[in-house]
Amino acid sequence: MEDLQGKVVLITGASSGIGRATAELCADRGAKVVVNYHSNEQGAIETVQAIQGRGGDCFSIRADVTKKDQVEAMVQRTISMYGTVDVLVNNAGGGIKQSTFVDMTEELWDETYALNVKSVLLCSQAVLKVMLPRKSGKIVNVSSAAARIGGAGESIHYASTKGAVNTMTIGMSREFVKHGIIVNGVAPGMVETPFHDKFSPNDNRLERLVDSVPMKRAATALEIAQVICFLVSDTSNYILGETITVSGGR
Ligand code: NDP
Repeated sequence: MEDLQGKVVLITGASSGIGRATAELCADRGAKVVVNYHSNEQGAIETVQAIQGRGGDCFSIRADVTKKDQVEAMVQRTISMYGTVDVLVNNAGGGIKQSTFVDMTEELWDETYALNVKSVLLCSQAVLKVMLPRKSGKIVNVSSAAARIGGAGESIHYASTKGAVNTMTIGMSREFVKHGIIVNGVAPGMVETPFHDKFSPNDNRLERLVDSVPMKRAATALEIAQVICFLVSDTSNYILGETITVSGGR
């Protein structure tokens, strides 16, 4: 399937997990892919090698999605390499570390909101400068099923950022649809990625929580990437402002 032929797709946090799977799948479908990363340069290299090894077109770029100047430089580089941006996948994110609500520090709260919420603002603003004059574009925000579960006891900071992302998806979709730009979201449940070990090291978090999934297994990153690619493609053009839950029933 080459339904993304020639489209320029910028994916934040593509050095790992869901972002990497999305980058590879978009490239397999013919897109020119921008592989953003922050600290994991080796991961970005592996994503690029996987894509180029299959004949795909991509390049990687380091940018901290919480920093406006770095985000703007990333979009400028994308334009100088590929001429435009057709699609943004706001995927970079994480829980930073587990904490109960009572013990939550101001620093952890602010850092989590910068990574998961401010990043969506900054990256979307930067690509909208290109999309608005062209009157076309797609943005997919990666949320989490945690937004409706709440994260009691370990991750209210993280879960609530994804609630904010869901609200941004609705608001952004309504603000930009008149300019030809379509915004949707995906809310994964438990996914087999490094996310869990970063969030809660030495805890086997994924194994511990997988029993709460009605399907009794975590998703692969590819299973999430397939839904993101569906929202990125023209097949989904009449879907607007939705966040599709992909959680095995959780
Ligand atoms: P990973 O930890 O595998 O990937 C996270 C990605 O985000 C990495 O590529 C990382 O880049 C990037 N990233 C982190 N901080 C920054 C930053 N400041 N600037 C740029 N990039 C950054 O996790 P997942 O693939 O699982 O997570 C992807 C998205 O999916 C996140 O938004 C997460 O909240 C969401 N999600 C994940 C679930 C899961 O069970 N795994 C469930 C629900 C939602 P680098 O390593 O180079 O710094």
